[in-house]
Amino acid sequence: MYVSLLEPLGIRTHSREELRLVFPVGDAARAAMTAWRGERGLSERGYLAIIPGTTRPQKMWPDEYWPQLLERVHAEHGLTGLILGGPAERDLAAAIVRATRTPAVSAAGETGIKETGALLESAAATVAVDTGPMHIAVAVGCPTVSLFGSTGPRLFDDGSPYLCLHRQFACWPCHRHPICRHYECLRAIAPAAAARAVDRLLAAGTARADASSNPSAHAAPARAAGLAFARG
Ligand code: SF4
Repeated sequence: MYVSLLEPLGIRTHSREELRLVFPVGDAARAAMTAWRGERGLSERGYLAIIPGTTRPQKMWPDEYWPQLLERVHAEHGLTGLILGGPAERDLAAAIVRATRTPAVSAAGETGIKETGALLESAAATVAVDTGPMHIAVAVGCPTVSLFGSTGPRLFDDGSPYLCLHRQFACWPCHRHPICRHYECLRAIAPAAAARAVDRLLAAGTARADASSNPSAHAAPARAAGLAFARG
């Protein structure tokens, strides 16, 4: 996105393919996380990864929304919840596991950055706040739903399977200076809206697999990309 600012100056920008994010997971991290998942009963594509933690409170989705999302996605798709994060998110992740009435596992504080990439690579999909590992999810090709509030929603203009949910309030963007008390822009994105976004990405992936195994089947868009504004 930012490199396009150079175009008016006549400076060549890159093709969409060249701009695609890349994250080198590596064989060692992949093997370690395959074993880690096996110990916890998390099969390949058998879980929804969530990334609930970030540094600024105005970028956090309400804590109580995460269990509701995990329960909806489990009911619809049978996916276990996997909570990712650093050591600072251990307590939040544990609270989400306790509050969720369907299977959920925490990896918060247990993984380095490459291991996080490996877990995202094998996830069915990811739901994340505006934070670094959300970009890793996109880079490893994981269908990703991002939840944006105070900051500017970012598009990945490279065909990645990505949906961004964002409610644009009149006070937006406040960045580091929110004028509200409860971050209503993120509170306005309901768990049901995030679950529907997961449905859309998973349906696009299934349609893609069906189309490749049956060339006469209706060809769905190769990837669901773009910006979606939450309505519910
Ligand atoms: S001030 Fe507005 S944009 Fe900023 S966090 Fe609050 S509701 Fe969201």
